[in-house]
Amino acid sequence: MIPNTVPVNQTPEEKFREYLSSRVKPQRFTEQQREMVRYIFGQHEHFDAEQLMGDMKAAGLVLSRATAYRTLAKLVDAGLLRRLLTGDKSRFEHDYGYPDHDHFHCMKCNKMIEFHLPEVERTLSELAREHGFVASRHNLIVHGTCDPCNQAKTPRRLLDLI
Ligand SMILES: [Zn+2]
Ligand SMILES: [Zn+2]
Repeated sequence: MIPNTVPVNQTPEEKFREYLSSRVKPQRFTEQQREMVRYIFGQHEHFDAEQLMGDMKAAGLVLSRATAYRTLAKLVDAGLLRRLLTGDKSRFEHDYGYPDHDHFHCMKCNKMIEFHLPEVERTLSELAREHGFVASRHNLIVHGTCDPCNQAKTPRRLLDLI
């Protein structure tokens, strides 16, 4: 987990309202959308749409599937959320007010481990320069298996013998 946040001058709600009203066909910021933005920005997690709906329902906030998916897509478009592709489904996390970072993704338990390595940034900008490429952002996900999942794979008997 990356503990620091990036200072921003608008709340996520203000930024989303501005995004909706500045569209070619301005849209209303609905009560359900407000609840979603509040809920999502109340904690930093990596989540998918189904998880979000389940968690919000447990908190007494019921959303229709269509609203959830549509609003998530708009939040990505508005620069509030970042979409991460981890195999079969999209997962989301805060983009607005959160520093750049990369991820290890466990293919067994779906855990996301965050890291920030200045060396990665440096190497990528050097590579981009060599290609005459103007990089605006990157999204690095390393897939594999996490430590607890690796431990679970090792038979107990074998560990006792070592
Ligand atoms: Zn795991
Ligand atoms: Zn993350």
